Amino acid sequence: MIIASVAIYYSSASFRKEDFYNRLRNQARSTAKLILNPYAPDPELARLIEQNNPASLQNNRLIILNSLNDTLYSSDEKGDIKVTNEILEKIRSEENIKYMQGSFEVLGALFSVQFSSFVVIAAATDTEGHLRLSELRIILITVCLVTLLAFFAAGWLFAGRALKPISDVVNKVEDISITSLNLRVPEGNGTDEIGRLAKTFNKMLERLETSFAMQKNFIANASHELRTPLTSINGQIEVLMMRERSADEYKSALASVLEDIKTLINLSNRLLMIARTSAEGPSSYSKRIRIDEILWQAKEEIKRFNEGYHINIVLDNSLTDSDQMIVSGDESLLKVAVTNIIENGCKYSHDKRVDIKFGCNNKMIEIVFEDKGIGIDEKDLHKVFEPFYRGSNAISSQGSGIGLSLVNQIIKNHNGTIRIFSQIGKGTKVIISLPAILQN
Ligand code: ADP
Repeated sequence: MIIASVAIYYSSASFRKEDFYNRLRNQARSTAKLILNPYAPDPELARLIEQNNPASLQNNRLIILNSLNDTLYSSDEKGDIKVTNEILEKIRSEENIKYMQGSFEVLGALFSVQFSSFVVIAAATDTEGHLRLSELRIILITVCLVTLLAFFAAGWLFAGRALKPISDVVNKVEDISITSLNLRVPEGNGTDEIGRLAKTFNKMLERLETSFAMQKNFIANASHELRTPLTSINGQIEVLMMRERSADEYKSALASVLEDIKTLINLSNRLLMIARTSAEGPSSYSKRIRIDEILWQAKEEIKRFNEGYHINIVLDNSLTDSDQMIVSGDESLLKVAVTNIIENGCKYSHDKRVDIKFGCNNKMIEIVFEDKGIGIDEKDLHKVFEPFYRGSNAISSQGSGIGLSLVNQIIKNHNGTIRIFSQIGKGTKVIISLPAILQN
């Protein structure tokens, strides 16, 4: 606005000046022609015509000098225009000069009439032009100020309105701490950038809240699971020490304590493994492992301690050579994972039987563990991967509820996926997919 106003003002000022000098030149030329007319030079008539000309400029002055610098005609009776030798010389050398003298704008020009040259000095004041120019200046300054004020007010209003959702979010975020992770930031209409940012932030808060809750539960559950066998050991020893016992009684009590200790060792081993796998995160294990060998080894080990378990491994037709069975991973972790799934399958089915189907599908090795056991309730199904979660079907069987959460963590760390499908009374199907290392 300021640049445009300055440009408008300066172009108007230069137009006024140009126009005024043009009018001054035209008027000087016509009057000079009248006076310098070789046939009827009548300065008085010329003065009369000049004074009564309605188009005449304000405070018009005209001075004509001949080549000897004698004044032939002058309408400057008050002597407002100073004609010095220096000015005359300048007019003669430059033929046309413009300058200001007080409030007068003066034009000096060299005219030739019939082989003689005359110096014509014309002057006038452009009161009206200057008045218009100052009016224009006031208008432009006012418009500039009003516009600036309007812009400032509108900018302040709209910026405030546009930034309000952000300041709302900031205020809300300041209130959120570890103890108030349930708070959420306002999402507004949820469609613009700020709404989407707030939505994403809320989702992150949700995940944080869940993981905080899980962490809290984890510690509570772990302490509970550890306390149960410890209390049992404590109770058994206390009862044992109440009086003198026979050797057989000591033996059977120690066997029971040993059982509890084994449970404790098993539990702490799994807890350590969970800690290890979650600390490692999805890593790139570089060791090449044949997954069928892992399955066979797991089967052997399980069978060694549970003779009544039936584990049936079937290779799919999609597997044509042993190279398709290779994954990169950690052998002991993968063995822990498949052992857990197989043991669950046998543990939660009356026939203690698990069928394992093993195939390759689109660069992924897929292992399906299927049992025809008691199945999992639908409400438990999506929670079985949570640490220490035990389904309603598991009340009568032993366990701590960390098996599947450990399996889930291990498979995730191997960049694989695990899915579980189950129907109460019909059985359970667990499908593991792991990326195969295919050789060309
Ligand atoms: P647990 O020590 O209780 O077996 P897991 O983490 O291995 O703990 O399993 C979590 C829960 O999932 C179990 O308590 C059980 O309810 C359910 N579950 C897992 N596998 C099976 C299965 N094959 N058949 C029926 N229920 C199962």
